[in-house]
Amino acid sequence: MKKLLIIGGGTAGTMLANKLAKGLTKELDERSVEITVVSEKDYHVYQPGFLYIPFQLKRPEEIVRPIQDVMDPKIKIILDTATEIKEQQKAVTLKSGKTLSYDYLILATGSHPQPVQIPGLEEAGHMFFTMDSALKLQEEMKKFKGGRVVVAVGLPHKCPVAPLEFVMMFEDWVRKQGIRKETEITYAYPLAGPYGTASVAELATREFEERNINIETFFFMDSVDTKTKELLSMDGRRLPFDLLVAIPPHKGAQIIEKSGFGDGDNWLPTDRHQLNLENHESIFVIGDATNLPISKAGSTAHFESEILAENLIDKLRGGEGNKKYSGKVFCFIETGLDKATYISFAYENPPKPVTPSKMVHYGKVGYNNMHWVNLKGIM
Ligand SMILES: Cc1cc2nc3c(=O)[nH]c(=O)nc-3n(C[C@H](O)[C@H](O)[C@H](O)COP(=O)(O)OP(=O)(O)OC[C@H]3O[C@@H](n4cnc5c(N)ncnc54)[C@H](O)[C@@H]3O)c2cc1C
Repeated sequence: MKKLLIIGGGTAGTMLANKLAKGLTKELDERSVEITVVSEKDYHVYQPGFLYIPFQLKRPEEIVRPIQDVMDPKIKIILDTATEIKEQQKAVTLKSGKTLSYDYLILATGSHPQPVQIPGLEEAGHMFFTMDSALKLQEEMKKFKGGRVVVAVGLPHKCPVAPLEFVMMFEDWVRKQGIRKETEITYAYPLAGPYGTASVAELATREFEERNINIETFFFMDSVDTKTKELLSMDGRRLPFDLLVAIPPHKGAQIIEKSGFGDGDNWLPTDRHQLNLENHESIFVIGDATNLPISKAGSTAHFESEILAENLIDKLRGGEGNKKYSGKVFCFIETGLDKATYISFAYENPPKPVTPSKMVHYGKVGYNNMHWVNLKGIM
């Protein structure tokens, strides 16, 4: 029996497992192939939903489902934490002490915010990249009556557009609350503009100018002075705040550090087209865990999983599995509470955002609701 072992039951791991299960029905029924997913959690959370929680536009129960409800019943789910990859033995050990062998190993272990890298941030700041932090920010925003708001970003982080979406939604929200005049908003970003690609930075700059959102460029977060309530940059600038929302830099998962495969921040060197771990034929990487120069996004995982599933199925049937991932990504960008734009891009195709509109916002609402179908590999 050929064994496919996926570590991580998030968006990438689930999408891939479901696509493999659909494509390998015959082999799974004959028991010539087994698909196993190791997941630390017994639930799946739709992380893009975190963006809406501070604004009370989504409730936690709307974005969480039990893991067995999102996985094809033919997939074996093991609720455990992978602790070590033993490449020589083609095996992975788990926290429970079990060892699982594999023919193909797929690492889908995600990316993880590191607030500890910015001293004072956990004490005095907020974020919305986890369920707990998004709910905490919601409570803080319920009390907000105006003041100085700083939205700051550390790189790299998943969903590069999410902080931009948050600041533009926040500006719209304070207007609708009738406290725009009492509120000063500053966006602090580590690059020369508010985003890392020119066309999106231009769109955001236009929006910021029209809506009186300040931008602080080349701002590399250093620490938070919790006494004076100021965010400090590495070059000594100080941004005073009444409300700080900061996205800290992310790192790859802990198991990557132990495996010795990753770079200093636990990102996995990945072939940009075939998605194998560089210099390894039986180990593949998908989703946020890669070091690829594209957005860490659920949409990336979606398009990667199409290619990787096809290639793995072909390999299991004796083929070469040579389809190439083009770097394709599609992202909606909320520009307010009821307007949005979108970008579609690939390695060789830079993004070109369309004019923000209500229609595109409804597209994003639909996209959010379609996640559960997307996850099942139906689309
Ligand atoms: C606020 C916010 C807004 C976003 N908006 C969008 C959006 O609009 N569009 C979009 O495309 N993307 C968006 N994203 C990004 C998207 O959610 C991620 O890119 C996507 O979830 C990545 O999938 P993944 O499977 O690689 O990682 P994850 O979904 O994070 O899953 C990784 C899984 O691996 C597990 N894991 C890690 N280590 C181990 C181990 N040792 N053993 C077992 N399990 C392990 C983790 O517990 C986790 O469940 C957003 C994210 C956030 C936070």
